[in-house]
Amino acid sequence: MMKLKCDDVMPGLGCDFVAEGATKEDVVQKMMEHGDSMHADLMQGKSEEEKQQATVAMKETMMSKIFEE
Ligand SMILES: [Zn+2]
Repeated sequence: MMKLKCDDVMPGLGCDFVAEGATKEDVVQKMMEHGDSMHADLMQGKSEEEKQQATVAMKETMMSKIFEE
């Protein structure tokens, strides 16, 4: 199972959510959905361009932090 800790992607939030999936793509998808529902405030006040850039950067971070357990 591939796993990813929210706390590894967005340190300092104190969030203990862990996304799980069979593939890295699954895990990233689940983490993006989690971010949309639980951490939408992080994107508040950002322009569409800034949101896109943040999303790209976040996905890169996610890919590098996914671990297998
Ligand atoms: Zn979280």
